[in-house]
Amino acid sequence: MTASADRPAARVLFVSSEVAPLAKTGGLADVASALPQALTDSGHEVRVVMPAYDTIDADSVPIAPHTVDIAIGPHHFTAGIRQTVLGNVEVILIDIPSLYHRGRIYTEDPDEHLRFAVLGWAALELCRAWDWSPDVIHCNDWQTGLIPLYLHTTHRQERFARTGTVLTIHNLAYQGGFSSDRINDVGLEPFREWLHQGHLGEGWFGFLETGLGYADILTTVSPTYAREILSPEYGAGLDWLLRKREEDLYGILNGIDTTVWDPATDPYLPYQYDAGTLWRKEWNKQRLLEDLGLAHDPDGPVFGLVSRMVGQKGIGLIPGPMAGILESTDARFVALGSGDPELEGALRGLEERFGDQVRFVSGYDEALSHRIEGSVDSFLMPSQYEPCGLNQMYSLAYGTPPIVRKTGGLADTVEPWDPASGAGTGFVFEHFDEGGVWWALNQTLDATRNPTAWKQIQLQGMAIDNSWASRAAQYADLYAKLTAAV
Ligand code: ADP
Repeated sequence: MTASADRPAARVLFVSSEVAPLAKTGGLADVASALPQALTDSGHEVRVVMPAYDTIDADSVPIAPHTVDIAIGPHHFTAGIRQTVLGNVEVILIDIPSLYHRGRIYTEDPDEHLRFAVLGWAALELCRAWDWSPDVIHCNDWQTGLIPLYLHTTHRQERFARTGTVLTIHNLAYQGGFSSDRINDVGLEPFREWLHQGHLGEGWFGFLETGLGYADILTTVSPTYAREILSPEYGAGLDWLLRKREEDLYGILNGIDTTVWDPATDPYLPYQYDAGTLWRKEWNKQRLLEDLGLAHDPDGPVFGLVSRMVGQKGIGLIPGPMAGILESTDARFVALGSGDPELEGALRGLEERFGDQVRFVSGYDEALSHRIEGSVDSFLMPSQYEPCGLNQMYSLAYGTPPIVRKTGGLADTVEPWDPASGAGTGFVFEHFDEGGVWWALNQTLDATRNPTAWKQIQLQGMAIDNSWASRAAQYADLYAKLTAAV
């Protein structure tokens, strides 16, 4: 089959430690689910491989009648194979209870390196079992970082002679560094010279570093983050290697799943709406505030936040400037998230001080996250760094102009409001400090005081297409580049 007139269909083995909705801790899972489906829609043959964690309902992933033998270093596993389909994509799950039945996806157990080395190794053994030669193996994050090196060493086989590799960085901060006495475990003892010699001298090796060295093409999830990670400030110790590979590094924005995030069909919203029925959003706001025990005031803007509570997200910059705004206006602030107790404590402190204006809900709540997007006036994302970010794209689609710091995918997806021309989709500040947040909150308040200008910002954001179709085509172009090169 031909994917398009000028781009042949590719056979793609897509390997990920998370795939939504089967197993998810963050944005990686959403990408590993939506991208293969969008690629399949455009005619590519994609097979997704992931571990069969015990957190996945076993009935939803039936066991296949064959097994795969895995002999890696001194270890031997007989992997059961489970299968399911997500939309139109076949998902294959590697079933090795001794490795993947831990009650959670990631652990700090002493064999964490082996759990994910085996994932990559098993994906390659599956190709042999299927008698299938992929054109491309698409790896994701550190967990799959050894695959490109396996193709040069332990799996240097005719089957993979024309197979290219893509490694996508979803967050450079997570690198999979392990003690060098684990090298034998992952099958690379005879190939130590392929690993970073300086780091071996220091007693460790890195999965992500290895993948960044040997994958044919590197991608990350926004053009700005692709540039930022070349600098020491954002490079998390790997900028030297990324600079060496700069010609092979591409930034492709993530998309949003519009079957899940669309205010016109969102089942979590009491009142669904679109660009022509935006007034219904005010009804959602009224209901949300009531449910949270806050008074509704049509003239008081409501700020919202949904986030993992980690330093990266800039949560600590919010309470100071927000307190200033709450003291002097009728604004309200609704926040949802869980994580670092200190950051949660800072938001709880704000709620205690402004009981009539602030609600902080600690926890993970899918329904409430949708309701916040579909109710509040403006959504806060003051991140220190943000590889792509999804919530600002949900906010745009929901007519909820986001307030973001100019970094990574936030810089690429939110156009700063220009009061003079009326152009723009949100509020963008540069400096990662309280002054930046203060400036952006005040600029937002100014805009809300002019209902015509405000509606224009909302509609400009809602008109933006952040769906997966065009983003998937950019990956397909890279696959075509790889297949043309062999
Ligand atoms: P990251 O992957 O760094 O957490 P993203 O913005 O890419 O950031 O994706 C975060 C996703 O997780 C979004 O879909 C967001 O709505 C969701 N999320 C984060 N915290 C919560 C929470 N407490 N409850 C519900 N959803 C949450």
